[in-house]
Amino acid sequence: MSSAYQWIEPALETIHRAHWYRSLQAISSKAGTTVQVGDRSILMFASNNYLDLAGDARLITVAVAATEKYGTGSTGSRLVSGHLDLHAELEQAIAEFKQTEAALVFSSGYLANLGVISAIAGSRDLILADTYNHACLKQGAKLSGARVMEFSHNDLADLSLKLEQYRPNHRRCLIATESIFSMDGDRSPLSEIMQLADQFDCMVLVDEAHSTGILGDRGSGLVEELGIQQSLIQIGTLSKALGSQGGYVAGSAQLIDFLRNRASTWIYTTAIAPGCAAAGLEAIKIVQSEPERRQNLWRNVALLNAKLQKAGIPILGDRVNESPIFVVSVGDTQSALTTSQFLKQNGIFAPAIRPPTVPTARIRLTLSASHSEEQIDFLAENLRQAINEISVL
Ligand code: PMP
Repeated sequence: MSSAYQWIEPALETIHRAHWYRSLQAISSKAGTTVQVGDRSILMFASNNYLDLAGDARLITVAVAATEKYGTGSTGSRLVSGHLDLHAELEQAIAEFKQTEAALVFSSGYLANLGVISAIAGSRDLILADTYNHACLKQGAKLSGARVMEFSHNDLADLSLKLEQYRPNHRRCLIATESIFSMDGDRSPLSEIMQLADQFDCMVLVDEAHSTGILGDRGSGLVEELGIQQSLIQIGTLSKALGSQGGYVAGSAQLIDFLRNRASTWIYTTAIAPGCAAAGLEAIKIVQSEPERRQNLWRNVALLNAKLQKAGIPILGDRVNESPIFVVSVGDTQSALTTSQFLKQNGIFAPAIRPPTVPTARIRLTLSASHSEEQIDFLAENLRQAINEISVL
């Protein structure tokens, strides 16, 4: 290898030494509560397939039909050759679901955050961001060129202080948060954030990646559940509870019009594939017509909470029934890896989430509406064993 690339080997060694090395585990079966890894069937407690729609026969049927009708790819960006009537139908369905005037579909939730945030804020503006925000919210803020300040996680007093101190010196201000935090499973105090935004004349962007399909009577998310009426910018993804792939933003018609002209991650990339668009559209219908999926999910959340409490397994932040994301702190990175390996040996897929993704190593567990009580029992019992036998806590 030429000397210009010799830095890679020591860089990899550093990653290994810190126990930060990441490797892949290939799954060779359809999404569901059990999946095939190598020659083993393993229980899935790590996916974002909260409503078990990613393997749903109806989504597969419409994705196949759309692929046959339109082809496998969209062939171009939306503004050139890639705009299908299916995309327009999907955006209309998202806007109705979110009860906004309009919506815009991106190729992923990551690209939606990147494109929206960098389009609506610039060098004269301020972005106040929850410090636990997902990487794509952080990257979008960076890309915008705005002054970016983080407030302590869900800390309204800190946010208020920073608004008082810094808001007056900036043209526009954006407060950015998640609804259910992806790596912690807790919820944002969004109603209170909206009040502060009104008081200080700020825009609010909420990423409902982990709450769409899950919260609210119609399943559209935290904004619906809290009955928030003020205008705000709602981001989401088709890739989690909705079981497909693609991201979106929902908001006023003017905002969407502006983004169609300014969001570079929408303008300069190929439109989402027809199969994904069709599956996302079908999922939005199912989420609204089958509330029992949500009920089953929340029943499972309560069940796992009770079982972990009974087994004396502490959940990070002592959260009770806030979301289908459970975080078990297991000491340092090595302990998290050992716990995850123990679980895997016993047939449970629950990877360790480590720095730099999160500040402290942890096991992140996610539930689906389709997990059985027996499967949840098995998980709790194995976690108890991992903690007792490996003494990781
Ligand atoms: N926002 C949050 C909060 C997420 O957790 C994720 C995915 N992990 C994304 C955005 C990105 O969504 P997508 O997977 O559709 O790119």
